[in-house]
Amino acid sequence: MSGFKALRIDKIASGQTIAKVDFDEAELMDGDVTVRVTHSTVNYKDGLAITGRAPVVRRFPMIPGIDFAGVVESSGDPTFKPGEKVLLNGWGIGETHLGAYAQKARVRGEWLVPLPDAYTPAQAMAIGTAGYTAMLCLMAIERFGLTPADGPAVVTGAAGGVGSIAVAIMAKAGWHVVASTGRPNETTFLSGLGAAQILDRAVLSTPGKPLGKETYAAAIDSVGSVTLANVLAQMKPLGAVAACGLAQGMDLPTSVAPFILRGVSLIGINSVTASRARRMEAWGRLARDLDPRTLASLTTTIGFDDIVPTAEAILNGKIRGRVVVEIG
Ligand code: NDP
Repeated sequence: MSGFKALRIDKIASGQTIAKVDFDEAELMDGDVTVRVTHSTVNYKDGLAITGRAPVVRRFPMIPGIDFAGVVESSGDPTFKPGEKVLLNGWGIGETHLGAYAQKARVRGEWLVPLPDAYTPAQAMAIGTAGYTAMLCLMAIERFGLTPADGPAVVTGAAGGVGSIAVAIMAKAGWHVVASTGRPNETTFLSGLGAAQILDRAVLSTPGKPLGKETYAAAIDSVGSVTLANVLAQMKPLGAVAACGLAQGMDLPTSVAPFILRGVSLIGINSVTASRARRMEAWGRLARDLDPRTLASLTTTIGFDDIVPTAEAILNGKIRGRVVVEIG
């Protein structure tokens, strides 16, 4: 097939358009591995790209989609053979390099990770960039030297993609997890993932004091803004926060108080350009620690034609857990 189904964003004077098109293989960008994409997902960043609400896309036309799983069709990279199952998170696909919402992708072999034996392509995309980032956050907290014996951990945006997987893997690792959510109707869902306590997100998302009660030893934050400021203010001495997101906002209205009076650390997490070694470690840990039944409980599956409405929904905080896209 030289033409294949793809979602394409084009730039126009008033913004951008998005349409399902027949894409010509000759228009794919340079790369040494061509992959038949079978599954993708909708992450928050995909929502921003598809709606144009933030300048995620930096090359037009663009096929959005920041991660995929699929089967190698042809390869000039000796690491990957035709027929091998692979996955890709980040490295600018869907931003500067043609991305995942298409039946084919051509990428650099060094961006690919072999699909862990523990997972099908659909399960790998149920984890997706959100889940892999949650694991990068947990690994950062562990590298920092914190353990569940140090005290409770708080996960913000808990019913979202990063948050729900963060709750599951932290609980599995033995942490007493406090799940902060704006969706009280998801209490049973979050308890099922392993949350020990549910916290109304309003407690953290409205402006608070520079220092609050010493409550948490560790935190995974995908929300940013006032929420992250309040999490920092409520950390125990020498606690650490792994920050990866901006669902509430990109700002951080904090003070130096948590850092200089409690020795709190703020660890930034960027999944897009994480090293291959760290990716392999994260996917290996997920394969070991994230039970496929837990994963199934937080996953919804959609078809190609549902991508655009789902992109809107995720920005509106309407998606619970993770969404898998069957590319077909
Ligand atoms: P989701 O939309 O699935 O989850 C975000 C959650 O944040 C929502 O479900 C909601 O949780 C909470 N939330 C949304 N709006 C607000 C608000 N105004 N105030 C407080 N809480 C809010 O998105 P993802 O989990 O896919 O991504 C989360 C963030 O992490 C995004 O900003 C994304 O860009 C970022 N990210 C960063 C990566 C990196 O490499 N640094 C990689 C992956 C994601 P609830 O309903 O439970 O309150």
